[in-house]
Amino acid sequence: MIEIKSPGELEAMRAAGIVVARALGNVQAAVKAGVSTAELDEIAEQTIRDAGAVPSFKGYHGFPASICASVNEQIVHGIPAPTQVLADGDIISVDCGAILDDWHGDSAMTFAVGEFSAADADLSAATRASMEAGIAATVAGAKLYDVSHAIETATRAAAEAHGRSYGIVREYGGHGIGSSMHMDPFLPNYGKPGRGPRLRPGMAIAIEPMLTLGTEETLELEDGWTVVTTDGSRAAHWEHTVAITEDGPWVLTAPEAS
Ligand code: MG
Ligand code: MG
Repeated sequence: MIEIKSPGELEAMRAAGIVVARALGNVQAAVKAGVSTAELDEIAEQTIRDAGAVPSFKGYHGFPASICASVNEQIVHGIPAPTQVLADGDIISVDCGAILDDWHGDSAMTFAVGEFSAADADLSAATRASMEAGIAATVAGAKLYDVSHAIETATRAAAEAHGRSYGIVREYGGHGIGSSMHMDPFLPNYGKPGRGPRLRPGMAIAIEPMLTLGTEETLELEDGWTVVTTDGSRAAHWEHTVAITEDGPWVLTAPEAS
């Protein structure tokens, strides 16, 4: 069963999404050489709590922080630490979730520390474009794996355009979201179109491709959380929470219009 939200409930999810966007914006502004991922975590948590919301990651299956901070070859689920200090040339993917009035938002972005290298810029752009293609395909009447197919197609197109080979991380993917963070259905970031449940207004899905500059193979570190590429190649991760409406996809974790 895929949860269907009323228009009012989607408005409530949008409010949660704005809190997540604000937290990521504040983290982005603080990303620079010499800053630890624990400091970024504090900024995100403070932003979320200042909005009267709760960081959904903190305590989730025992996760100890409000963001996942995944640096360089770390793909997802990196644990922020005072000893993990950013250096120029690093890239960092920050994933953040918040609960406001019992509704969830979930979003991730990849940032450069200093300047992106050409390869890292392409990697992040390809991942972001894949997410955007997935968002555009998240429309009423489509089948779920039409979204997967749109994501994969955009990844292949970016690889072609960039003259690079991107690894599509297969063990992790998008998910339904709403009254919980992780709900049915699971959304692979690749696949054949025309299959899966039909998308209907009131559904909400977190769309989150993860790409690497090398392998598709992943390894979970002994901390029980951090997922890395097995070949040490760098990874990027972009995510938005998206609602299906009669008027098309609604990006619930987009920043507030200024
Ligand atoms: Mg996330
Ligand atoms: Mg997610």
